[in-house]
Amino acid sequence: MRDRVLATIGIGANLGEPQAAVHAAIAAIAALPQTELLRASALYGSAPVDSSGPDYVNAVVQVDTALTAPALLAELQTIEQAAGRERPYRNAPRTLDLDVLLYGDGCISSAALTVPHPRMQQRAFVLLPLAQIAPQLVSESALAAVSDQAIHLIA
Ligand code: AMP
Repeated sequence: MRDRVLATIGIGANLGEPQAAVHAAIAAIAALPQTELLRASALYGSAPVDSSGPDYVNAVVQVDTALTAPALLAELQTIEQAAGRERPYRNAPRTLDLDVLLYGDGCISSAALTVPHPRMQQRAFVLLPLAQIAPQLVSESALAAVSDQAIHLIA
């Protein structure tokens, strides 16, 4: 049997009904094969970074999974597609964006996958929800470095 790995996934949506899209994504991740949802952050609202359109709704979840990292990415892309995501151009506004932020303590650098996610440390919309569910993974200095980014907890 494959080892199980603690994987961290970032969720973002800013088109249609983004809160509903994020809730549906969390439910879809919880239903993935060989995967157990361990923790889900609250939802956060943030202004677009490297993107455009309405504010994003973001969350971060942690799963325990026996999927390989490429298999997990493929499953997440299937969930994105089911949410009706289109990719008219790079960093376009999206119905749903799912990123593999961390895969255990693994470092992956392939054509399809870079883990840890290369931009996670620069993004308040990743670090704040991550700090809520896994504070040991986010340093005070990392939070301070993104403190100028507008983000709020959605009640
Ligand atoms: P985006 O359009 O921002 O969702 O980027 C999707 C592309 O990024 C896909 O083609 C993935 O293969 C690639 N990618 C590289 N690293 C990651 C990662 N850690 N999580 C999700 N997608 C990734």
